[in-house]
Amino acid sequence: MSRTPDVLVVGAGVVGLSVARALRDRGLHPLVVDRAGVGEGQSGIQPGGIRLQWGTPVACALARESHAWWRTASEELDSRAFAFSTCGYVFLAHSERALQRLTASVSVQNAAGIPSRILSAEEAAALVPGLLVETVAGASYCAEDGYLDRPQAAVAALARGIDVHIATVEAVIPNRTGWDIETSAGRLSASAVVLAAGVETRALVAPLGIELPIEPEPRHLFLSQPIRERLLEPLVVSAERQFAAKQLYSGRVLTSYLGASGDPQREAPRWRQHVRAVIRELLPILEYVDLTTVATGAYDVTPDRQPILGPLPEYEGLHVAAGFSGHGLMIAPAVARLVGDAVVGKRDPLLEVLDPLRFSEGRLLPEPQVI
Ligand SMILES: Cc1cc2nc3c(=O)[nH]c(=O)nc-3n(C[C@H](O)[C@H](O)[C@H](O)COP(=O)(O)OP(=O)(O)OC[C@H]3O[C@@H](n4cnc5c(N)ncnc54)[C@H](O)[C@@H]3O)c2cc1C
Repeated sequence: MSRTPDVLVVGAGVVGLSVARALRDRGLHPLVVDRAGVGEGQSGIQPGGIRLQWGTPVACALARESHAWWRTASEELDSRAFAFSTCGYVFLAHSERALQRLTASVSVQNAAGIPSRILSAEEAAALVPGLLVETVAGASYCAEDGYLDRPQAAVAALARGIDVHIATVEAVIPNRTGWDIETSAGRLSASAVVLAAGVETRALVAPLGIELPIEPEPRHLFLSQPIRERLLEPLVVSAERQFAAKQLYSGRVLTSYLGASGDPQREAPRWRQHVRAVIRELLPILEYVDLTTVATGAYDVTPDRQPILGPLPEYEGLHVAAGFSGHGLMIAPAVARLVGDAVVGKRDPLLEVLDPLRFSEGRLLPEPQVI
């Protein structure tokens, strides 16, 4: 540790590291504390998706600001280890009702300056090689949606130049001038604390009498071995079939049964069967791709599937950035700006809607387009 920190950030995932960088840009000295190291949580599992297609103005605003940053992030971070690529995301609708929902989301996106549009089934087929559209009513599409080719390298690049201390945070305690955190390696103090510890954030604030409704939601991905041929370019999602598929930069085909729940040891064959059935219906081009590897992680979800950001009322100097509900990588740059500003006393209006009190005050903002 080079000097006494001004701010302690708990969690060295993409969010904690982005917030630490924003604090440094504001002239503060942050110290990040993590029980396991850089990118050892969800940030080490996520496959790098960065999209603009959301269904609420607040999610579109965070995504749009962050997408602009991620596009040039490798230059910003002076790293050649990763790059942003556009691939487009296609959200399929199999019923008029689902198409209406996508149309409503596209209106919200367009109002936020996002260049998405509604496609007919034939237009969707022209964009996605091999897509069968007999059961497709239409789709939404944004060509600027994309992904990081090596997402974990991006997380490592964010950590460069940031002090990261390995210790488990056991308690967060107010003192006369700021905050102490009790860790497995001793006590640390600073004038402010930012909790970016994913689902664990809930347990860290509970002893202070604060209830943050963040729950773990397991997610399972099926991955093939790397395939040289490009089989699938836009990322394809069917919410009605609870299915998503993408060929990653590595050549691996990633598929997901969005409804998977239970023990992967026991249930994986059933989930794989579901994925295979949707592949036969929509993307038979993937029929002979092996889906041998199961990668398991957990989202940190809130009741409205939007993050909880900003200062905790009645606890001056204690801030939270958690509950990312499966999209923390793609909105981390905007989150870092909002939380960095809040620590130095500037309140962005977006914090008024993503604040921790919205649950007890009934101001939920349900985000319909989480996958
Ligand atoms: C399968 C899967 C696919 C996903 N795909 C995408 C995607 O394509 N695009 C996207 O934007 N997002 C995606 N996500 C979500 C994304 O990974 C997360 O929203 C994001 O990584 C959250 O970052 P974070 O820094 O908040 O949390 P994390 O990366 O989980 O970091 C939290 C850190 O806190 C540390 N910690 C916890 N408790 C303590 C403690 N008591 N003391 C010290 N340290 C502690 C942990 O060790 C961890 O390193 C995906 C998630 C999963 C699981």
